[in-house]
Amino acid sequence: MGIQVLLIEDDETIAEPLTEGLAHFGLTVDHVTTGAEGLRRPYGDVVLLDLGLPDMDGIDVCRGIRQVSDVPIVILSARGEEADRVLGLELGADDYLAKPFSVRELVARVRAVTRRTQRTQEAAPEPVYEPGPLAVDRRTRQVWVGEVQVPLTPKEFELLALLTEDPGAVYSRQQILDRVWDPHYEGPTKTLDVHVAALRRKLGHPAWIQTLRGVGFRLAVHTGPSEPT
Ligand code: CA
Repeated sequence: MGIQVLLIEDDETIAEPLTEGLAHFGLTVDHVTTGAEGLRRPYGDVVLLDLGLPDMDGIDVCRGIRQVSDVPIVILSARGEEADRVLGLELGADDYLAKPFSVRELVARVRAVTRRTQRTQEAAPEPVYEPGPLAVDRRTRQVWVGEVQVPLTPKEFELLALLTEDPGAVYSRQQILDRVWDPHYEGPTKTLDVHVAALRRKLGHPAWIQTLRGVGFRLAVHTGPSEPT
């Protein structure tokens, strides 16, 4: 069954082509133009939320949805809304895209967040994660780039394995420190940057681990020429 999307966006010049574009990828879009309408609608499989709405702050819409539902939320934010974006993620939004973005990019994010919720409802992730050139085997703790095995320290491996649990998802610095180091880790957070730098160097593809300034990190392994540039 196709993915049902609730699009909360007041700007028709964005909403119309987006609705068409998403339909092209097989997604069904229910479009509303106000926060109040958005809160009343069935949320579907994923909510795409504009932050600048005419009747209420998109952040409050995010908070309102989270009070009653675990539906994945992707924030669509304009330039200059960096602080709101971070707040949205803290309030439980799953991801965000800065405008302008391509429909293909959005579809990839939507698929990632909906897969994630389905997966947490179903089972643990597959032991082997292999998007193109990178292969991470959680069972044997081996990492390969193409044909070459990459030796990692235990912490480097755990950091990479964590990022592969939800490929494309943003992990906050605190989440990573909690999971890879200790819950409530309070040591120098520089430690994390040092490990990320080492991991990038060893993998030989620094761009695979993206830094979201002030937020955290995400894994973005480019697998082929169809990737948007
Ligand atoms: Ca708007």
